[in-house]
Amino acid sequence: MSRRMCGIILNRRHRYHSIISIIILLALTSSASSGSRRILHIDSNDYLFLDEMIFGFSLEHSFDMISQKGKLYSKNHYAVYSVGMSVLLVDGSLYVSSRAVRRSVGRILIPRDAGEHILKSFMPRIDLTRKGDALHAEFPNGDASPPYGSEERDRRPSKDRISFIVIDPGHGGRDPGAVGKGGLEEKDITLKVANFLEKKMMERLPGTRAILTRRDDRFIELSERTDAANRLLRRNENGIFLSIHVNSSLSSRISGYETYFLSQNPTNEDARNTAALENNVIILEERSGRKEVYDDVDYIEAMMITTQIQKESSVLAGSIQNGLARKNKVFGSRGVKKADFFVLRGVLMPAVLIEIGYISNKKESLHLKSERYLTIIAEGIAEGVSLFIKRYNSLIKID
Ligand SMILES: [Zn+2]
Repeated sequence: MSRRMCGIILNRRHRYHSIISIIILLALTSSASSGSRRILHIDSNDYLFLDEMIFGFSLEHSFDMISQKGKLYSKNHYAVYSVGMSVLLVDGSLYVSSRAVRRSVGRILIPRDAGEHILKSFMPRIDLTRKGDALHAEFPNGDASPPYGSEERDRRPSKDRISFIVIDPGHGGRDPGAVGKGGLEEKDITLKVANFLEKKMMERLPGTRAILTRRDDRFIELSERTDAANRLLRRNENGIFLSIHVNSSLSSRISGYETYFLSQNPTNEDARNTAALENNVIILEERSGRKEVYDDVDYIEAMMITTQIQKESSVLAGSIQNGLARKNKVFGSRGVKKADFFVLRGVLMPAVLIEIGYISNKKESLHLKSERYLTIIAEGIAEGVSLFIKRYNSLIKID
């Protein structure tokens, strides 16, 4: 059998749509008879029409209108994208394009480089060449119809070095977070720790940028915190996301600090309760339908838990707990835990949520009022984070 060819037509102008439609029809006719020819048509401005990618390569697709996130999949391969974002998750690894995924007249446009990356990841033997306005896809062995989806890919860690830290002081504005006796509010404590932590990080890793999701007492929706972090991702640059919180319990005896990473299987009932408490903020969010968005077991979240990012997040959480344990001589470590925190969902980088202590514990709440104590907390977090970043960056393979 001769080499299989998929002709993919790249087109410069929308006015060619009618011509392309005819070509697609011809291709379909041909495909029906020989099963060998497929056509995908691409905008000249280095975008692929998503619907034609799906159509041309028999990919499966789902799209959430509210969150504007979509997933392409084929056998054990998947790619997750978000309209307006240049970062995609492809088979467990991040891919950062130079352009964002966009919508035009109801159609989704994938940057061409990202589209090619997805096709190569899904079909490792595909050979893509651009000839003028056309991008041709070839399958050299001709032994299967695309997609070739069965090869197990090695799940490589993302090879971009960590160059920035997003520090997210929990709550703010109309959302005070946990409130202790005497009106002590979580949102004020988290902002102080975030400010101290930023300074400590600059001292320890001067070449690393620190970005705070808020610098004053204002309300920010959870998805804004996440999106702000993801927008910072660039090719060859990765980040970490730290959300700072203060815990509260019905039992006034509980004290200590713990660091969480995202999982849909909470460590225990306490972890589940902590996540429920922190996730409550969504009822204060304004946009209608937010709850439904978060309630959906969205594909990006479902995929995140099986990826390298989750493993890296658990290592980061361990490093932070160790750092805190070395500095904090007053209260004990409650360990690394996992739970489903909405603010960590969809963060495309190692991400943790640190509960620095219990506002419901009398002795600990007195300490949480003390700026000196909060600088010790910041110092512990900074030490753990610095060690993680140094190790992470030293392990990156240059290829
Ligand atoms: Zn909180």
